[in-house]
Amino acid sequence: MPFELAPLPYAADALEPYFDKATMEIHHGKHHAAYTTNLNNAIAGTELEGKTIEDILKVVDKFTPAVRNNGGGFYNHNLFWSILRPAKENNAPSGELANDINATFGSFDAFKEEFGKAAMGRFGSGWAWLCVNKGKLEICTTANQDNPLMPGVGCEGQPILGIDVWEHAYYLKYQNRRVEYIAAFWNILNWEQIAKNYSVVK
Ligand code: MN
Repeated sequence: MPFELAPLPYAADALEPYFDKATMEIHHGKHHAAYTTNLNNAIAGTELEGKTIEDILKVVDKFTPAVRNNGGGFYNHNLFWSILRPAKENNAPSGELANDINATFGSFDAFKEEFGKAAMGRFGSGWAWLCVNKGKLEICTTANQDNPLMPGVGCEGQPILGIDVWEHAYYLKYQNRRVEYIAAFWNILNWEQIAKNYSVVK
């Protein structure tokens, strides 16, 4: 079975006013769709056909740039949509994840500051991640559509939360103001899903 583009788990306008409908439609329906199609084309007829996306990412350094870029793009956006949801007031983690964020970074606000700095500091296109690396929470960033499951990217572990800092993720609404896009992001995080991701890999 080739990889398929899953529908967004909410309406394209459900994240308004933080992430606008037009950006969501283009980001999912055009960008993510293209990564999916191009991944299928890149692995067609190779030994990667039929493997899970996680297994492909682990050995991606042995294959073409098309596998790397589109495999990363396919996986990264699946994770991204899944950790978002319509806005909630006082949106914050709870339970064990909240405790471990506080213990690791000092407080939830300190975590947000450090994560935001990482996302701002990624020059050009890429992603910032919250990962579980050998049982510990860590923040790191990757270029392009790389991610922590790929070998040798200087950012290791299982990502449980990520932000897309490609301009296609924010330019229509925020233009050059990545800092405002990152500030908006905190309102629409699905902390229950992120806690689930955490419980599986910690
Ligand atoms: Mn994107």
